[in-house]
Amino acid sequence: MQQTTLQVGGLTPMTTIDYPGELAAVIFCQGCPWRCRYCHNGHLLPRISSDPALIEWDEIIAFLEQRQGLLDAVVFSGGEPTLQSALKPAIQQVKALGFKIGLHSAGAYPERLAELLPLLDWIGLDIKALPEDYAALTGVSGSGENAWESLQLLMASGVAYEVRTTVHTKLLSPQKLKKLQYQLQQAGVAHHQLQPCDTHHALDQRLSA
Ligand code: SF4
Repeated sequence: MQQTTLQVGGLTPMTTIDYPGELAAVIFCQGCPWRCRYCHNGHLLPRISSDPALIEWDEIIAFLEQRQGLLDAVVFSGGEPTLQSALKPAIQQVKALGFKIGLHSAGAYPERLAELLPLLDWIGLDIKALPEDYAALTGVSGSGENAWESLQLLMASGVAYEVRTTVHTKLLSPQKLKKLQYQLQQAGVAHHQLQPCDTHHALDQRLSA
């Protein structure tokens, strides 16, 4: 059965940095199937949360109705937003309010991403490593294949994008990074952003040493 209510673990009411060039709100979707060693959103990872900080979807819609004409865009972030089958109807509802739609994803569910791409105006896709190096980072076998399949879908879609890679030298050596940059270029990626790793609340605290 399709889940009809998006589980939301947090909301940023206004930001200029999460959707290039647009004033946006960010909805943080609950749940992620991966456990990246550097993840600093531990509270968003469980699929089902009883956290009192969860925000009712109706509250989100009420908030956005008050921001029509004031905000340009709404970004669905996470966690991994594509984990929830409620994401598509949620996007459709927000799009109908007149907002541009942004998505932050790590590409964990290529089939769901394929369905969502026609609804998106912009996507920030994390490509964390070469496919063969993903499992050591995410703890999940097959995660690299899914992420790179999502990248192929994105490249074929024509949707505006930024591909992002978080760099921690313990996880991505300079040699690996060079190879990754080459592979991304081969895949047709023209917009690739490196971001420093914030290990402050990392799942694997050994990374902060
Ligand atoms: S994919 Fe993102 S949210 Fe999920 S564990 Fe990795 S860094 Fe955290």
